[in-house]
Amino acid sequence: MSNRVWPEMSRKNFERTKVYLRTLADGLGLRDWSFELARAPLDPHSGNVATIVPTFGQREAVVTLCHDYPTKSPDYRRYVLVHELLHCHLDRIMTPFRENRVLWRLIGAAAADVIDDQVRENIEHAVDAIAREMAPHLPLPSR
Ligand SMILES: [Zn+2]
Repeated sequence: MSNRVWPEMSRKNFERTKVYLRTLADGLGLRDWSFELARAPLDPHSGNVATIVPTFGQREAVVTLCHDYPTKSPDYRRYVLVHELLHCHLDRIMTPFRENRVLWRLIGAAAADVIDDQVRENIEHAVDAIAREMAPHLPLPSR
């Protein structure tokens, strides 16, 4: 059995990252959520450093990291995870636009798409601004 989850991520670091994710989640008021760390990195062409996908109607989410996440600075890794975790607090704002087919029929798919895009973009800005302020108040990864 390989001691690496993917080339840049050792098993040890993967396990440490899972524990660290839990620590940050607890510090961000997400004690009642559970998180899974994906065992494969993001597609390098995605342009993302990390993603989080909450399960609809559940307090659980999957976090996926880019392949070179382990090579980033501790400050940056903390900021990235704080940013992703904060999305959980705002996930329910997005739900009506993504899942409410009645709303889509009432206002039309084109209008719903525009609203969805606007809400998504503004949530992204809010999450990032809060993450940049919050991250320094939370512990750094151990390595
Ligand atoms: Zn984001």
